Amino acid sequence: LAPPSARTIGSDLFAAWLRPRAKNTHKGSFGNAGVLGGASSMVGAVFLAGRAALKLGSGRVYLGLIDARAPALDPLQPELMLRRPEALLATALSALACGPGMGGSDEACELLLRACALELPLLLDADALNMLAREARLQEAVRARAHRGAVTLLTPHPTEAARLLAGDTAQVQADRAGAALELASRYRALAVLKGCGTIVAAPDGRWFVNTTGHPALATAGTGDVLSGMIVALLAQGWPGLEALLAAVHLHGAAAEERVASGCGPVGLTAGEIIDSARLCLNHC
Ligand code: AMP
Ligand code: MG
Repeated sequence: LAPPSARTIGSDLFAAWLRPRAKNTHKGSFGNAGVLGGASSMVGAVFLAGRAALKLGSGRVYLGLIDARAPALDPLQPELMLRRPEALLATALSALACGPGMGGSDEACELLLRACALELPLLLDADALNMLAREARLQEAVRARAHRGAVTLLTPHPTEAARLLAGDTAQVQADRAGAALELASRYRALAVLKGCGTIVAAPDGRWFVNTTGHPALATAGTGDVLSGMIVALLAQGWPGLEALLAAVHLHGAAAEERVASGCGPVGLTAGEIIDSARLCLNHC
C-alpha cells in the first residue's frame, strides 16, 4: 500500500475546532495548561511557553520551574501560576508540555517519567526530547502511553529529530517527511519536524506540510512559543492532530504578520510572535 500523500496545512483542516465562546462560559471551560521545565539559567523558555499558552486561550496556565531559585511570579505576566515541579504534576491539568529549558539532570529525567504516567495529552519538546533520545526507560514510558490511549506529541527541530532517530541532521533534512513519519511510528506519537516547511506526521501514516512561516523565526525561543500554543489548544480540548496543525499554521502566520508590520525579519523576537498568533487565531 502506498503511503498517503501529503496535504498542505490550511485552516480548513482545523476550522471545526474554532468554536465561538458561549455567553455563559467560564475559565473552567478552557482547560488548565501546564508547562514543565526551566532549569537553572533557562527559566525564560518556560515563561515564553506559558505566555503563549495564556494568549492562545487556556483558562489557566501553571508553570513548573525546576530551578529552585526561580521567581515565584512573572511580574510581566502575573496571570501565570508558578509552582515547584512536584506541585505542578499534582495539579489538575488538562494538558502538559515538558521540555523548554528543562536541562538533562537526573531530577529532570525523573520528573519526565512521572509526567509520562499522567493520563493527559503530553507534549515533549526541547530537552525532554534529548532525554527521550538517550533514556530507554523514557522510550518505554512514551510507547506505553499509546497502549493506554494517551496522546503524546513530539516537536523536534532537525537536530533533535536526528538524536531521536540515532542519525544525523543532514539525513533528517534529506528526507524530512520520512523522518517525521519514522518518529511518529517509532514513538507511537504525533510528530512535528520543525524548520522551513514544517511537517506534521501521524502514526497512521498521514502527513502534512506547512506553508506559513518566515526565516525571521530563526531566533531563540520561537520553538518554546510554539509549544505554549500547542498546549493551549490541547488544554481547550482540541484533538492532538488538529492542535498541531492549527498551532504550526498560526505560528508561521504570526511571523509573517510581524514581518509585514516591520518587526522583522531582522530582530524579530520570540515573545513578539505571541500577540500576533493571538490575532491570527481570533481572525481565523
Ligand atoms: P526551535 O528551534 O525549537 O526554537 O524552533 C524554531 C521554530 O521556528 C520552529 O517552529 C521552526 O519551524 C521555526 N523556524 C525556524 N527557522 C525557520 C525558517 N527558516 N523558516 C520557517 N520557520 C522557521
Ligand atoms: Mg526548541
